[in-house]
Amino acid sequence: MQNDTVAAIATPNAAGGIGIVRVSGPEALDVASKVFVPLREGVSLRDLPGYSMVFGTVVEPAADGSGAATPVDQAVCLVFRAPASYTAEDVVELQCHGGLYVMQKILRLVLAAGASPAGPGEFTKRAFLNGRIDLSEAESVMDLISAHGEQAANAAYHALEGSLSREIREVTNVFIAAAAHMAAWADYPDEIYEEELDYGVLLKRFKEAYAKLDALQAKFDAGQAITEGISTAIVGRPNVGKSTLMNTLLQKDRSIVTSIAGTTRDVVEETARIGNVVLRLADTAGLHESEDVVESIGIEMARDKLEHSDLVLAVFDGSDALNDEDHALLQTLKAQTENGRKSIAILNKSDLGNVVSEEDLSPFATRTITLSAKDPDCYEQMRVLLEDLLGTADFDPSAAMLANERQLSCVRRAMDAIAEAISGIELGLTMDALSVCVDDAIAPLLELTGESVSDTIIEQVFTTFCVGK
Ligand code: GDP
Repeated sequence: MQNDTVAAIATPNAAGGIGIVRVSGPEALDVASKVFVPLREGVSLRDLPGYSMVFGTVVEPAADGSGAATPVDQAVCLVFRAPASYTAEDVVELQCHGGLYVMQKILRLVLAAGASPAGPGEFTKRAFLNGRIDLSEAESVMDLISAHGEQAANAAYHALEGSLSREIREVTNVFIAAAAHMAAWADYPDEIYEEELDYGVLLKRFKEAYAKLDALQAKFDAGQAITEGISTAIVGRPNVGKSTLMNTLLQKDRSIVTSIAGTTRDVVEETARIGNVVLRLADTAGLHESEDVVESIGIEMARDKLEHSDLVLAVFDGSDALNDEDHALLQTLKAQTENGRKSIAILNKSDLGNVVSEEDLSPFATRTITLSAKDPDCYEQMRVLLEDLLGTADFDPSAAMLANERQLSCVRRAMDAIAEAISGIELGLTMDALSVCVDDAIAPLLELTGESVSDTIIEQVFTTFCVGK
């Protein structure tokens, strides 16, 4: 439990119908009592049980302590008692009118009454530190807040509800059990651990665990494409139809525009949702190139965009012979594709007849498609191709899923250690040598769920949160 009591405005920093000032910590009820007077006489916040709700007035205590307080706003006060609250601490939420001045005034009063300002994600961090949720569940809170589509929200909800945590714990338990038996064997080698330490049995269990992690890893890109969105560059020489394709993909009724400053990302992004897939076009300026800017865009620019995107849509004018710029782009594309980046070579302007064929482009890209960017049907063509390429067509948001690079890196490190343990068994390594690999597998899995994790990593996770969450 944390010793101090913290407070923050939990609703957005903008005017709204209702604003919530949340106070959490051992002194939450004392602090709130100093600034909130229940309407009904004789009611004291300090005596209320959890899940109580009272109506009253937020007041500014007299500066001279005379008791003549100044009313500030009418409010509803919610009381939660530890551990049955968001943070697992005593929590008071003051639901006031959602004016910016009013909310900030009430926050100042609460701070003057003894609370400290909460840092970014402090309430969720406390829920984690108090053991109410694990680290991956804490991360899913922010994912749910920033979800920009049904599938993403669904996936974040299931992660919050524990779908990934359960899967990781199952895998971790295999190695914790093995480590425990190995330690016991080291201390008491004469005891018999036939079943638990039989190399055949261990091999089977380790391989099953590896396969589970491998399945999670394999689904990562698809999950990212649906939840976070996949960073995408549209490249090609001038006039091949990049802007036209962009406009067709950004059909206003199907696309969404997100401005998420101050939450998870500080940049303004343009996001196109195509079927299940979210394409994140981070460089807005690049999307709306003016004609003269387009003139100046050469292969260098394309190369830069290529290098910083996970998916490249390389557009070519299929009605015109490939020129030097196209060939240079194809070479860059090939290098990127060999580096594991996904790419689609788009043979545009199919309505004008094709001088270039898909076979000319296919050696350089992950996929090739012929279409007319002017034709609205190309949206559907691109949807089918993208869902197939990114593996999102049969996405199950309720299944366990890795939500970010941190989790992916933990899983990969665990897989490396498990692979070593497996080959150790196959080579007939000693139990001592094997136990090192087992410990190496456990550490990153505990880091994933936050059961054993450095303060630095905890700080990194919560700095991406907004204040008040
Ligand atoms: P960008 O410079 O690559 O962004 O190319 P634009 O999208 O501005 O397109 C250049 C020209 O090609 C414009 O006149 C478009 O109308 C035209 N264009 C784009 N796509 C097609 C297509 O599929 N068919 C035909 N006939 N013209 C197209």
